[in-house]
Amino acid sequence: MNIPFEVFRTPAEMRARAEDLRRDGRRIAVVPTMGALHDGHLALLKHARARADVVILTIFVNPTQFGPTEDLSRYPRDEAGDLAKARPSIDLAFCPTAAAMYPSGAQTFVEVRELAKPLCGASRPGHFAGVATVVTKLFHATLPHLAVFGEKDYQQLAIIRRMVRDLDFAIEIASVPIVREADGLALSSRNAYLSASERTAALALSRGLAAAEQRVAAGERSGAAIVAAARTPIEAEPLARIDYVELRDSEELTVVDRLERPAVLAMAVFVGTTRLIDNRVVGS
Ligand code: AMP
Repeated sequence: MNIPFEVFRTPAEMRARAEDLRRDGRRIAVVPTMGALHDGHLALLKHARARADVVILTIFVNPTQFGPTEDLSRYPRDEAGDLAKARPSIDLAFCPTAAAMYPSGAQTFVEVRELAKPLCGASRPGHFAGVATVVTKLFHATLPHLAVFGEKDYQQLAIIRRMVRDLDFAIEIASVPIVREADGLALSSRNAYLSASERTAALALSRGLAAAEQRVAAGERSGAAIVAAARTPIEAEPLARIDYVELRDSEELTVVDRLERPAVLAMAVFVGTTRLIDNRVVGS
């Protein structure tokens, strides 16, 4: 694609370029990220590349999705390294400053109600309103036909799909399966926080998911038993502390007592002070 690579810093400049591309009949895909790129992000870019003429990567550590005691200030940032890594897979990048994204006086937030209440929404009040709002703003800046998200952030994906449906966004949402290390750990920018012993302890999450999956394969249908199977290896790990492990309907995210249709086994676990999430769809 003969599009000169550029990094845009303001929504207005990004949108002007996207409007030109649309006028030329190009199909635009956007991949929103917070940077500190890893192979999970690269899988999203690859998916975008296969399905669009123009791939726009966004890198923005969005302050409104972090709680007051969370890791906003120490979240890993390496824009130059990220752009070098992503460059072969993208056409344009949108890396705005917080001031450009949030001029003072903003009063409007996008809130997806029920889907944002459980799981990470319960532990991180306001998080998903921050996510839905920033994703809306990133969509308005990049004018995509297609947006690609990872199944790693399962609840986020469900919320964005619902937002797009409820608010009539003319954007297709695509998802990419979780990319894992060879030993099972889901790739995450936050894995960089882990010490060597915590890195080993973090395997408890994928072990828990695998244990639950085995129980399902053996015929278990009780939600409580499936959750208990997932919790056991995590509770055996001294460096791990469960935030939640829950079995939820794969679309509505309502509690599943009996597995009768696909459900997501979702978990958040502190390993040391680092909060990791993982999930697996079971019963499909
Ligand atoms: P983040 O930079 O963590 O906000 O993530 C940006 C996008 O990458 C989100 O759509 C995530 O779901 C996706 N993502 C992060 N980690 C992974 C992974 N291990 N596999 C697949 N997608 C991922």
